[in-house]
Amino acid sequence: MAQPYVFMGGTFDPVHNGHLRTALELQQWLQVARVHLIPSGAPVHRDSPGCTADERLAMLQLATDDEPALTVDAREVESDKASYTLFTLESLRAELGADTPIVMIMGMDAYQTLPSWYEWRAFIDYCHILVVARPGYRPDPSPELAELTEKHLATTPEQLWQTAAGSIVFHELTPLGISATQVRDLIATGASPRYLLPDPVWHYIQSHHLYGLTS
Ligand code: ATP
Ligand code: MG
Repeated sequence: MAQPYVFMGGTFDPVHNGHLRTALELQQWLQVARVHLIPSGAPVHRDSPGCTADERLAMLQLATDDEPALTVDAREVESDKASYTLFTLESLRAELGADTPIVMIMGMDAYQTLPSWYEWRAFIDYCHILVVARPGYRPDPSPELAELTEKHLATTPEQLWQTAAGSIVFHELTPLGISATQVRDLIATGASPRYLLPDPVWHYIQSHHLYGLTS
């Protein structure tokens, strides 16, 4: 079996240390060469982000430049289709073939909202889902999500190497209560978000006057 393709999708508006540390710890836990970060193009699950897709992509690239275990996959930004997760999974499966495991990382907050995503029931046919704890979010699944979870629950990460798709695994990492919303709110009130995100990303936000930053 080939090494799993492990990815974390998100708006990354902007990328912060909660994303980066989560991705790195999972790369080590799963013992894969790298984790791929996939920024959304035009997001379908939320309001428009505070900057352009190209700016979010540039910040992710700055954040991961010096870390070989993390790479940026620009397929959603470069696609002219809407950023539906199903399309991304289809494109990954077509590229990787039927036998390569695909692992989709989701924070607990994102996982709870899964039943509102386009064609969400099909995801598990394309990938494994690895749900990570996120401070402030307790597992509180709707009945339909609880049913999916129960049906596919796996307790060890080995499953993610042995089959191409079909398992749901929960894992706890160093809890980091950082969110992009918090970073944007700090900037909007004139406070520094430093140390919640990599310095090169903060410098990029300053030099491009993102998130309403004026000086
Ligand atoms: P926003 O506040 O704008 O929603 P965010 O911090 O939630 O931003 P997203 O881009 O929405 O970041 O999240 C992308 C993925 O990363 C989601 O699956 C989310 O659950 C996960 N994630 C984000 N921050 C953390 C964190 N601090 N710990 C664990 N997972 C996280
Ligand atoms: Mg979010």
